[in-house]
Amino acid sequence: MKQSTDSILQTSLHNFNQAAERLGLDEAMRQKILGPNEKIEFKTGPVMPDGEVVNLSMFIVRHNDALGPSKGGIRMTPEVTCDDITGLAMEMTWKTSLISVPFGGGKSGICADPAEISADAKEVIIRAFTRAAHRHIGPEIYIPAPDMGTNELDMAHIRDCISYSEGTSITKGCFVTGKPVILGGIVGRRQATGKGVVYTIGVLCEKVGLDISKMRVAIQGFGNVGSVVAYEIAKQGAKVIAIADLSGGVVNTNGLDIKELSEHVLEAGGVKGFNKAEVIDKDDIFGIDCDVLIPAAAGSQITIENVEDIKAKIIAEGANAPTTPQADEILRRRDIAVIPDILCNAGGVFVSYLEYTQETQREQMTLEQVEQRLADRMSRRFNEVYDLADREQITMREAAMNIAVNRVVEATIARGLLP
Ligand code: NAD
Repeated sequence: MKQSTDSILQTSLHNFNQAAERLGLDEAMRQKILGPNEKIEFKTGPVMPDGEVVNLSMFIVRHNDALGPSKGGIRMTPEVTCDDITGLAMEMTWKTSLISVPFGGGKSGICADPAEISADAKEVIIRAFTRAAHRHIGPEIYIPAPDMGTNELDMAHIRDCISYSEGTSITKGCFVTGKPVILGGIVGRRQATGKGVVYTIGVLCEKVGLDISKMRVAIQGFGNVGSVVAYEIAKQGAKVIAIADLSGGVVNTNGLDIKELSEHVLEAGGVKGFNKAEVIDKDDIFGIDCDVLIPAAAGSQITIENVEDIKAKIIAEGANAPTTPQADEILRRRDIAVIPDILCNAGGVFVSYLEYTQETQREQMTLEQVEQRLADRMSRRFNEVYDLADREQITMREAAMNIAVNRVVEATIARGLLP
C-alpha cells in the first residue's frame, strides 16, 4: 500500500506489523487480516442550496469484518484522503476487538470543510453521501457514526435519507449510531468518548499512585472529544491549564474556566480571543509544562519534531493515531506512559454498540445504565491491558495491540476458509 511519511495509515500499519511480529503470525494470516475487505472511492456532484454543483470525493473502507459488521465514523475535513480512511478503518478493527463489541473496523470520509459551509449545504452533502453509499451501509454491513467534522444532526439526516428511500418511517435495524435521542439515539453517546478518556486517566493515576485532582492538563482539540474531556477532568478537580484548537491556543496556569470557554467557543467558533487566558501558538500545546497531555484533534500530531518538548508524564490519546511511530519510540525511551488510542477513546464505539442493541430491542436505556456499563467496560479493559503490559514489560500500546489482533486472528481461524 502506498503511504506518505508519518501518515495515519503508516502509523496503523507499523503498529499492526509490530504486533504481528510479536504474535508470530504467518504471512498468509497477516495479509488476510490486513485487507482491507472493501475500499470504495466515489465522487458525487450535488446541487448546493446556492445552485452551484460541486464535485466531492468520498470514501468508505470496510477493513475487517471477522468479528462483525464494520463500525466507524464519518470524517468530514477538506484534506481527508482514502489512505487516512484506510488507516482509521484499521484502527477501528483493533478498537472494536479490544473493547469486545461484535463489530469489525470501518470508516468513511467526505472531502469538504464543515467550517466553511452553511447547515443547509452540509445537509445536502450528507444526503448525497448517503444516497451514493446506501448499498454499503446497513446493520450487517457498515454502521457509520460521527467523527471529526460530523455530528448527531448529520446522523439524523443519514437515517432519514435511508428510511425515506425505503418508504418507511424507521430503518430496519440500526444503520447509523450517534443519532439524536428523539430518533433512536442513546443518552450519553456524545459524551461517551470523552468520558471514556477520563476514566482511563483515572484508573492509570490510581495504578501509579497519582491523584487525578492534582493533575495539570493540556488538551489539543476542543470539539466533541476535547471539550467533554476538559469538562469531565475539571469536574474531578484537575486543572485544565491549556487548550489549543484550529483557531489558536490559550493558557492559564490557574486553570481555565471550561464553562466560560465553551460559551466563548460557541460564539467565536474557536478558543482564540478568550480573554481570561494568555495566548499561545496552537502548535506550542505539546511543550506546555503539564502532567497529562491529551491529543484530541487530528492524527500524526506528536512527531519527531515536537516529542522532545513534551513535559507530561501521561499522554492519553483521545484522537486516533495522534502519535507517529518514531515519536512513540522516543516516548517509550523517556518513560512517558501512553494510553493508546484503541483503548483510550474506545468509549464512543462501546456506547454506539449499546445504541445498536437498544435499536433492536426498541427500549431506551437510562443515562445511569449507559454510564455504569461504560465505566465498567473501560476499567476492565484498561486493567487487562495494563496487567499484560506490566507482566511482559511492554508498552500499553503493544499490550493493547496484542490482545486486539489476537481476537481478530481467533475469529478468522474459527470462521475457517471460504466457502
Ligand atoms: P471535532 O470535529 O468535534 O473536533 C476537532 C477539534 O480538533 C476542533 O476543536 C478542531 O479545531 C481541532 N483541531 C483539528 N485539527 C487541529 C490541529 N491541527 N491543531 C489544533 N487543533 C485542531 O472532532 P472530534 O469528534 O472531537 O474528534 C477528535 C479526534 O477524536 C479525532 O481524531 C477522532 O477520530 C477521534 N475520535 C472521535 C470520537 C467521537 O466519538 N467523536 C471517537 C473516537 C475517536
